[in-house]
Amino acid sequence: MEREQGALILRRLGLKATPRRLEVMQCLVGERMYLSADEVWNRIRVRLGSIGLPTVYRILDELAEARVITRIFSADRKQYFFMCANQEHHHHFVCDSCRRVVDFAQCGLEGLAGEIASSTGGRVLSHILQVNGLCAECSRTESEVAR
Ligand SMILES: [Zn+2]
Ligand SMILES: [Zn+2]
Ligand SMILES: [Zn+2]
Repeated sequence: MEREQGALILRRLGLKATPRRLEVMQCLVGERMYLSADEVWNRIRVRLGSIGLPTVYRILDELAEARVITRIFSADRKQYFFMCANQEHHHHFVCDSCRRVVDFAQCGLEGLAGEIASSTGGRVLSHILQVNGLCAECSRTESEVAR
């Protein structure tokens, strides 16, 4: 991703395209694995020098709120982040072993949304679905080890 492209994404969302925000986005874009705030911090402070971990947390939160990046939930309860270029409605299959994130388009929740709406009397506006497991490569490796 070009810096201008990142700046455009931010400005469209009404966010200022600060060098720090752009640097955080640059770090996550094109990355196939999800990253922790520490990892993002370690990568960008090589380039930016004086930036604190709390600042990186704040930027990641802002970008997640604006849906520029996605929060990934993990069993270790740490916060992880992933930047996805896919604009279509889709969900993420997350590998617990290598942290790879794979998009999948199958949703199957539309019907459930209707049921939830009628049983609660409310209205369903959106949903988040993340599926955890082992990616094709890791599940192959695991079965080879088991043999
Ligand atoms: Zn995605
Ligand atoms: Zn994997
Ligand atoms: Zn869905």
